[in-house]
Formats: sequence, C-alpha cells, structure tokens
Amino acid sequence: MNHTFQKPYNCRNLRRYLLLVLHLFLTYPAFSQERIYNVDVRVEESNEGIKIFADNGELLPMTLKMDFKTEGLTPSDGNSELVVLDSKSSNALVASFTAIPAEGYGYSYSYQIIKGDINSKHNDDYAYCLPYEKGERILMAQGYFGKFSHSGLKALDFNLPEGTNVLAAREGLVIGVKEDSQISCLNPSCLKQANYVDILHEDGTIGQYVHLSYNGALVSLGDKIKRGQLIGISGKTGFASGPHLHFQVTLPSLENGTAIATKFKLAENWIDIPKEKEFYTAFEY
Ligand SMILES: [Zn+2]
Repeated sequence: MNHTFQKPYNCRNLRRYLLLVLHLFLTYPAFSQERIYNVDVRVEESNEGIKIFADNGELLPMTLKMDFKTEGLTPSDGNSELVVLDSKSSNALVASFTAIPAEGYGYSYSYQIIKGDINSKHNDDYAYCLPYEKGERILMAQGYFGKFSHSGLKALDFNLPEGTNVLAAREGLVIGVKEDSQISCLNPSCLKQANYVDILHEDGTIGQYVHLSYNGALVSLGDKIKRGQLIGISGKTGFASGPHLHFQVTLPSLENGTAIATKFKLAENWIDIPKEKEFYTAFEY
C-alpha cells in the first residue's frame, strides 16, 4: 500500500515554490495484519533551516528510512538515511538542515516506515521451545519453504488440533494481538482474517503465533511473557486448510520483515530445525 500526499505551499523567502511530498511505503508480511503504524513525522521550519521530528506510539522501536531533496540547505552532521525511533517516544530529532544565508531554501522528502529496529540481529544460539504442552506429540505439517503456503517463507506449521494450548516458544513482550476473527478459508483473501499473538524478543526479532481461535489470545498488548507461558488457544482463522499453529520469527528488514530460520530444543541434547512430516514431543520449556 502506498500513500502519497502533495501539499503545495510557498517557500519562506518567497523565492521558490515547492512541493512537500510524503511517501509512506507500507508493506506487510504475509501473515501480519494490515495497519497504519502509529508513527508521525513533522517538519519545523525557520529562517535558520529545517528540523524533522518524529513520534513513535508503538510498543516496539520503529525505523524510518528517509530520503531528502534540498536546495539552499546544508545537512547537519549525524543525519542518517536510517533512523531508529525508540518505542513509545516523542519529539525525536530525525534530521536537521541549516539554511545557506541569503539563498532561501526548498526541500522535499519521503520516508518509509519499517516495523522494528533495522539494526536487530537474531541470536542464532537461542534454542526455542516447542510451543505446546509437555508430553504432546505433534506433526510438523509444513516446514520452511513448504509447498502448500510457505513458498519462499521460513515458517513452521505445527498441526495443533483446534482448542490446543499455545505456549510461547521464547520470552518477550506482547506487541500484537488479534482475536476477533471467526473467518477461515482456503484462499489468500483470508490472510488478514487470522487471529494472532506477536511477541517482541530481546534481540529485536518478532515471534508470530497465527491462526488462533476466536477469542483465543490469552495475553494483552504490553504483557511480558515467559518462555513456555500459555499465550493462546489454537484454531484455524485466516488462510488455513484446517486447525494448526503457524509460527514464524521475523527479523526487521527493509522489506518490512524477513522470516528467518530458528532452532528448537527438540529433546535432551538435541537442538535442530524441525523438519516437515516429522513428529515432535514437547518435553521442557
Ligand atoms: Zn503456515
């Protein structure tokens, strides 16, 4: 989804007419909800130049990718194309430009909002726990790059029957919850109808637990979650052929989220990536 706003106005020194063009490029990972992020960018103009500020009302850091075109302005030291905004922060100085005296100035800019801190790196040493109760033996119905619906996607489908407890595979902060959907179909048009819980991990990656049942999220935005904690009830909402839990870990990226491979603790002394068509029994958290 692209949004374009064009707002003509007169330049401060009346020497130029310019267009302020904002481009918000918002794209969405396949299993996330479509939304407009709670991030605002604004410009303060003066005779000395311009300053750009941003507010981030989201529960996680967000990244702005800025692109400026200027005339009669000198960029300040420290201006960067990629700016990370702290969670729940306001009035962060994103960039500033100093006017060249007696010239008048003009500018346009565009920006892309990226979910999360673009500098995040996944802790590849972390061994996730299987996201269901101890002793349950569950089929890995679809693995990374599975042909049915994971083409090009590193995601896992655990074949959890409807109504099964879903546990957190890793500790973190709840940053996304949807549980109001009762809709399911075997068509990508139902992608946005999936109920889910999203958990932000310490390393900036996001664990996504998708297809939960109606009212099947047992946590709230802002909750701190322990590994192995009950977070939801499995279902089949969204684009699903039947009940299962779709799990993926997403790394913030310029593509607005890239699903990555993660290892699980599959048994004592056995840490590996779960394989399609295999059964795995949860044994500890
Ligand atoms: Zn899936």
